[in-house]
Amino acid sequence: MKKKEFPIKIGLEVHGYLNTKEKLFCMCRTMPPQDVDVREEKPNTRICPICTGTPGSKPMLANKSAMDKLIQIAFVMGCKISHDKDLIWQRKHYNWADLPKGYQDTISGAHAVSPAISGKFNGVRIREVHLEEDPAQWNPETGRINYNRSGLPLIEIVTEPDFTNSEDVVFWLKNLILSLSYIKAIKKNAGIKVDVNVSTYGERVEMKNLNSIEKIRKAIEYEVARQIEDYDRGIVQKQETLAFDEKLGRTVKMREKEGQADYRFIPDPDLPLIKLNVKEVKNIERQLPEMPEIKLDKLIKKYKIDKKNAEILTKNLELVEFVELLSKIGIDVKKNLSWITIELLRILNYNKKTLEDEDVDIKPEHLAELIREVDKKNITVLKAKQVMNDFVPKSFSISKKGDIGKIADDAIENLCKQVIEKNQRVVDEYKQGKEQALNWLIGQVMRLSERRADYRVASECLKKLI
Ligand SMILES: [Zn+2]
Repeated sequence: MKKKEFPIKIGLEVHGYLNTKEKLFCMCRTMPPQDVDVREEKPNTRICPICTGTPGSKPMLANKSAMDKLIQIAFVMGCKISHDKDLIWQRKHYNWADLPKGYQDTISGAHAVSPAISGKFNGVRIREVHLEEDPAQWNPETGRINYNRSGLPLIEIVTEPDFTNSEDVVFWLKNLILSLSYIKAIKKNAGIKVDVNVSTYGERVEMKNLNSIEKIRKAIEYEVARQIEDYDRGIVQKQETLAFDEKLGRTVKMREKEGQADYRFIPDPDLPLIKLNVKEVKNIERQLPEMPEIKLDKLIKKYKIDKKNAEILTKNLELVEFVELLSKIGIDVKKNLSWITIELLRILNYNKKTLEDEDVDIKPEHLAELIREVDKKNITVLKAKQVMNDFVPKSFSISKKGDIGKIADDAIENLCKQVIEKNQRVVDEYKQGKEQALNWLIGQVMRLSERRADYRVASECLKKLI
């Protein structure tokens, strides 16, 4: 008998930490100092009376940079911005040890005016985008509370239940993360947390706090299969909130879902209404970079770069912009692509850096200069690669570098003679037919010339002399 098919509906609530320097309602830092890993940071080191909810403290006006990032994200999500309405900060009440004030301030909720609604991103409808503050971190075993996280600005992107399977969700989320990285809106190493709701034949089920793409995939696949099995057994699917236990590989019950009334939303009297400035919103829109799909298209059509390499470049906005700048100053980027996709990435990876790191400053004009000198055969490819090794963190003009030009053929011949004389055993091996022996000898010539000898000349010369 054919199994009954259900209309599977999946919707997401994506939460991410906004990339701001300060918390939402106070001036505490959002991150530890650069040399301290957030996981090893001492608890309660970035706190003040506001983010610890000390009685008598009042919130400061919402962080301007968080509000701007909210608008940027809303545009990327294709939303309509509510700049004609007053936005209300609301108190969302619940009693939990991680919430010292007893409520969380949010722009969402019962009487809310959403700052951004009715969007569409990669074919999926966006219900709304809003902003709220993060609660503290509470350890139920020790009872200890760490307020470093308390008051961090959290963005929430809510989709309509437009997904029908886990593959589409995973693909969409990866594109979302990439697009958000183009506007630097989300903290890079803090990741995202996603609540996923799934409905098949009965009420919808919400799975909370899924913090990796893999976990989201597994949770959806498990939950859809479970619900369909339950239907066959005649079980009624109620509305419920679940967590996904990765070790058990299944969802477990968390609690009955709170209705909106349980949160007792009220406007926060300590925070004024927000009126978005039309001019400023327009300005933010104007300054948005082109999104990944547009860059990909450009790389393929305008710069004639193959799809695979174009996709590698598109993973990073700075990399695409580097290619565009190189092209602007007259470099054939298609022909010289390996200088970027192989050499530049190699030295960055080796130094554990990326182009977007603040201390990294590599100028396209310096690489262009190097490529031109190689084209003119003034320096060897190997020498150019060696020079590039020193481009991280800061590139330089090779005119400032000492003698790096190619050396003359008779100088190469001299070096070859030296190498042959000193390595008679290897020369004999080559004579007996061992081809790699020649490569080793060429390597010695390159080393002695500090990579300034022409590889082909050295090879020919050695063959002639042996
Ligand atoms: Zn604070």
